[in-house]
Amino acid sequence: MDKIKTTMERANKYMFNTYSRFPITLVRGKGCRIWDEQGKEYLDFVGGIAVCALGHASDLVTDTLKKQAETLIHVSNLYYTVPQTDLAQMLVENSFADRVFFCNSGAEANEAAIKLARRYMNINFGTTKNTVISMDNSFHGRTMATLSATGQKKVKTGYNPLLEGFKFVPYNDLAGLEQAMDETICAVLLEPIQGEGGVVCPDPDYLKGVRNICDEYNCLLIFDEVQVGMGRTGKLFAYEHCGVQPDIMTLAKALGNGLPIGAMLSVEKLARAFGPGSHATTFGGTPLVTAVSLAVLRSLIEDGWIEHCRKVGIYFKDALNKLKQKYNFIKEVRGMGLILGMEIDRPCAPIVEACMEKGFLINCAHENVLRFLPPLIVTKDEIDMLINAMDEVFTDMTIT
Ligand SMILES: *Cc1c(COP(=O)(O)O)cnc(C)c1O
Repeated sequence: MDKIKTTMERANKYMFNTYSRFPITLVRGKGCRIWDEQGKEYLDFVGGIAVCALGHASDLVTDTLKKQAETLIHVSNLYYTVPQTDLAQMLVENSFADRVFFCNSGAEANEAAIKLARRYMNINFGTTKNTVISMDNSFHGRTMATLSATGQKKVKTGYNPLLEGFKFVPYNDLAGLEQAMDETICAVLLEPIQGEGGVVCPDPDYLKGVRNICDEYNCLLIFDEVQVGMGRTGKLFAYEHCGVQPDIMTLAKALGNGLPIGAMLSVEKLARAFGPGSHATTFGGTPLVTAVSLAVLRSLIEDGWIEHCRKVGIYFKDALNKLKQKYNFIKEVRGMGLILGMEIDRPCAPIVEACMEKGFLINCAHENVLRFLPPLIVTKDEIDMLINAMDEVFTDMTIT
């Protein structure tokens, strides 16, 4: 009986309606292109929300996945495995961090970060130093702890009681942060660029100021690089742009190019707080996902994709700024590398739909910010095609 129903009808019948999905069913991808059930082609400027850095059906990812699947998929963290160890070493050797904990998602990476910060402070400075400050408009995930740490009402509504020990201050406001600080604060958690919040960038020297305040109050600095890490800003990690290092950093989205993996990285002084039995996960860092992540990380670094991202990002941002000069309803173009946002003076949804009609997938953050997170392998030609399509959509819009 189900056979006569479309995929969309069955999805709406059999799954919780937690997503407001676009009415297309995607079946196949290659590079920055993706096709729906009817065979219609789209250029993908969403990239699985900053996940598919090397694009869809990347030969590297597919070949690595096949080979590892034939060798060893999972054994449990009761044992050492080579791909997990290789990935940890490569992450450490290419970042501020000394140690890595692997998990399965961004929310889980942030959970691990919050747990590590609390436990380190509990052990070393007493149990009252336990409050985490995060930012208004932030996004850190959907688990109870990470939604309690998230600065957006829509994520938290209906889930009372939220967890205790979280406090919020405005982003880009050092005075506000300083005011909120006291001896009970154990960590400041923030995104180097707020992604879900609408591609909100830090003011020059803001992150340096946050680092100084954290040092002054003996509190840990956690950067949530789940969306902006792994080359997306034109450097491997976004913190590299700001001249300071966090104590803890979380990664997920692009780390596995679509395989579920998250990571929490920290400096050595926190290592003792996460000893045997203190934290764990069944699936975290399986040979299968870490083999793929390792191949992705290697390719980002060694095949020049980060440099490519930086270059085409500048080209893309220039092109968006040219549209801004042409259309008054565009308020601001923000971002760096290939996390770019265009704030407009009206809801994004009709524009996103019109672009989809023309064969382009773009995304909307925070109601009125068009957000662009294409695979890092996107070309200038593909960017030109999107810009032309948007230009047409905008022209049509202003006529009607
Ligand atoms: C997506 C995202 C998360 C949550 O990651 P999940 O894998 O969906 O749990 C956390 N923080 C930031 C900044 C994100 O963009």
